[in-house]
Amino acid sequence: DQDRLLSASRRPEDVDAALRPKSLDEFVGQQAARDNLRVFIQAARGRGDALDHVLFFGPPGLGKTTLAQIIAREMGVGFRATSGPVIAKSGDLAALLTNLEDGDVLFIDEIHRLQPAVEEVLYPAMEDRVLDLMIGEGPSARSVRIDLPRFTLVGATTRQGLLTTPLRDRFGIPVRLQFYTVEELTRVVTRAARLLDLPIAEDGAVEVARRSRGTPRIAGRLLRRVRDFASVAGHEIVHAAAADQALNRLEVDALGLDAMDRRYLTMIADVYRGGPVGVETLAAGLSEPRDTIEEVIEPFLIQLGLLARTARGRILNPGGWKHLGLNPPVGSQD
Ligand code: ADP
Repeated sequence: DQDRLLSASRRPEDVDAALRPKSLDEFVGQQAARDNLRVFIQAARGRGDALDHVLFFGPPGLGKTTLAQIIAREMGVGFRATSGPVIAKSGDLAALLTNLEDGDVLFIDEIHRLQPAVEEVLYPAMEDRVLDLMIGEGPSARSVRIDLPRFTLVGATTRQGLLTTPLRDRFGIPVRLQFYTVEELTRVVTRAARLLDLPIAEDGAVEVARRSRGTPRIAGRLLRRVRDFASVAGHEIVHAAAADQALNRLEVDALGLDAMDRRYLTMIADVYRGGPVGVETLAAGLSEPRDTIEEVIEPFLIQLGLLARTARGRILNPGGWKHLGLNPPVGSQD
């Protein structure tokens, strides 16, 4: 996954920070989510209270971290960030929570990967703003209760269903993020190009947008690569043709699929005659973790209608066969 150009996960080279929108107005797309957040933020501010806990869920790179930062800024409070796998012990979380200032936003990325013991600490913290700590061991052990400052927990995960029910139930504001439309991504690309000082024509921006897998993080990454190709080729302004050429060199196809996506589709077509085939089998065949397949590769292929998830496994849709330039074998489909 690390070598995957279109992997939507964060990579060190991503200077994501520079491109992050700073306010809800500047944030492109996700209209419904933004409208709701605006109301809840205004109401909480009006009451002089912390915002209720927010859970963002959706594929990587759609703006969960960015929105968490925006919430803190619009609430006028501090922002602390961590992630589920980083919090090893309940004491680590206790330390984080007790160090918060009044009203702060605590952002926990990949919150579905918290250890169960750590998650237990979170329940009373979220619900009653208290920490129940056990001190000592054996017969002399006792529990002490510590009051916490008011805070807003913002959790991020790829799918809501990955959370345990008690954790999910403690978020007052669940927000699903959607893949972006080409029109929205065109605005993301145009804005990023301006910040990067890269002259880009409207048709160039559309071309990058069309091939960004519905994902702003990928749009930013592709734009940087297109900039490299354009500057080496001596283009003063990036038109569609230059963008197309660069993206072809990067093996990003017309739908925005990369080599990994095509390997995935090709395996279902060639080896399993279009499916149904189980995800574990595909994970083994592709040497990719099941998570990556389910959270990163499949959602966009499903969104495009190339693939279906069924109870019996994955099935290549007619559009999937067509995109590979293949004909479905007669009688193989349900
Ligand atoms: P996530 O936390 O969902 O993985 P991030 O919030 O880190 O995604 O966003 C990834 C990148 O995409 C960031 O560089 C951010 O600047 C950019 N980005 C995300 N959403 C938007 C948006 N709506 N408009 C402009 N840029 C965005």
